[in-house]
Amino acid sequence: MKLSNYYLPTLKETPADAEMESHKLMLKAGLIRKVTAGVYSYLPMGFKVLKKIERVVREEMNRAGALEIKLPIIQPADLWEESGRWADFGPEMFKLADRKERKFALGPTHEEIITDLVRDELHSYKDLPLVLYQINDKYRDEIRPRHGVMRSREFLMKDAYSFHDSQESLDDTYEGMYQAYANVFDRLGLDWVAVEAPTGLMGGSYSQEFMALADEGGEEIVTCDQCNYSSNTEIAKYQVASDGKREELKDIKEVETPGMESVEEVANHLEVPTQEIVKTFIYRTDDGLVAALVGGDDSIEEMKLINHLGAKKAEMVSSEEEIRQITGANFGSIGPVGLDIPVYADLDIKSMANFTVGANKNGYHLKNVNWERDLNDVQFINLRQVEKGDHCPKCGAKLNFHRSIEVGQIFQLGTKYSDSLNGEYHDEEGNLKPYVMGCYGIGISRILPAVIQQNYDENGIKWTDSVTPFSAEIIVIGSDEGKSDKLGIDLYQKLSEEGYDILLDDRDESPGVKFNDADLIGIPLKVIVGPRGLKEGVVEVETREGKTDELEIEGKEIKETVGQLGEKIG
Ligand code: ATP
Ligand code: MG
Repeated sequence: MKLSNYYLPTLKETPADAEMESHKLMLKAGLIRKVTAGVYSYLPMGFKVLKKIERVVREEMNRAGALEIKLPIIQPADLWEESGRWADFGPEMFKLADRKERKFALGPTHEEIITDLVRDELHSYKDLPLVLYQINDKYRDEIRPRHGVMRSREFLMKDAYSFHDSQESLDDTYEGMYQAYANVFDRLGLDWVAVEAPTGLMGGSYSQEFMALADEGGEEIVTCDQCNYSSNTEIAKYQVASDGKREELKDIKEVETPGMESVEEVANHLEVPTQEIVKTFIYRTDDGLVAALVGGDDSIEEMKLINHLGAKKAEMVSSEEEIRQITGANFGSIGPVGLDIPVYADLDIKSMANFTVGANKNGYHLKNVNWERDLNDVQFINLRQVEKGDHCPKCGAKLNFHRSIEVGQIFQLGTKYSDSLNGEYHDEEGNLKPYVMGCYGIGISRILPAVIQQNYDENGIKWTDSVTPFSAEIIVIGSDEGKSDKLGIDLYQKLSEEGYDILLDDRDESPGVKFNDADLIGIPLKVIVGPRGLKEGVVEVETREGKTDELEIEGKEIKETVGQLGEKIG
């Protein structure tokens, strides 16, 4: 491609509304442009990279035996009502109506459509397993679209769906998909880890996310160096505190804590360590109110409560008036003793004795509270957030914390959709059974900023080999009656004929501008052709890392030089 014929509007200034480096660079390098919040256009070079990522994903999906299809983006509401997710997705779905007032949504995901597609015809165990996939736009009205195409409202996803006649068959395919994902992310040059993940709105029994490591990433994960444990912090387990020495139970005592709201205030006033206080929160869930208890220094992880309850949501009761109605006290004085709602407590505080909680009476706390004696029917669950210093639940080594970007997720769905949408097959004995299903997503458009986020410097992007839009850029500098220009064009033509994807900067710009642009757009190799080199019979090559080399051209056929360059380009 000749840059003089290309559309590459690079920016000198850093765009003011971009925070993440990948977002700034995608705008500066002329890869994308914003249309409106969370909606972007891809310019030629951005689209080219997107297509390269897509190709890697497609090759690995085909290799894993999945069959490519294309499903509609416009989806009738009826199907979503059938599965019960019209309400569950709620405001995250873009909804529309046709001229007859029939309701539709722009597909945020395709479990309903795919189950509907196969349920009329996929009836025999002989046709299972089946894996179908597509690469298609998804629409989600995200609350906070941000960081460009990292979290956008229209984005490109690869989504695959599998149908099985047994859990074993699903396990096999799930394993195959995991391997395909590993191949994809390795080939793209990402530094990634797979972690256990919450199933969220997709539902199902088991899920893993593929995370690209990046300090600015929105997701926090934990990993263990000693064993293979890794998890999204939202559901991460930790090594539970062992039973301390058995303390003698002291008499429960009501103590005054006038006007005190925080754990620190109460602890100071009562002259007890904050770890001896248990905090109480009240949540409103699908099935009513529950109390959730964690240690004085800990924070609650709502996803863990939601997961344990199998609830769609759990909202902390946050109005003073409501909390008074439920407990009889203001926030600062609430506690579990005497509450007639289910109580869930964090596993880590099970070994506590003689602890302090709010008395459900304004300005009072209870000291020396004990589980069996003072609280009935408490369920101990993994409830608090994991914290730095926590140990691995499997092997006890210290957990490592990382920030990351979610680039893919795979799910064992079980029969959630086949049950609700009546997707059934006949087994060998002729019995009708619901398909066992899996689904598998990759955020193709999110991978673009994820790759950049892992590969840039102060001058710009540093593309990895498999996604770089061009393998090398020929830069002609200086004027010598067209000799350098001619060599530049010759090299460009020969390399292009050899099948290399080459960019030729033939613009009438200063060398400084050309070099800066080449670094900004991240091309791995520059081939510099100019009078100084020509005089010595060489062209200079420079990697994006700044390593330079010279290739002799004097006395050689251009073909040989192209051959040498080809080796450098790889
Ligand atoms: P997130 O938690 O980031 O909102 P999700 O878990 O809801 O994502 P999935 O339903 O698992 O997303 O979708 C599969 C993949 O699609 C994700 O792993 C992610 O890479 C990508 N993706 C999801 N939402 C967006 C978005 N708004 N913009 C760009 N990519 C997205
Ligand atoms: Mg996900």
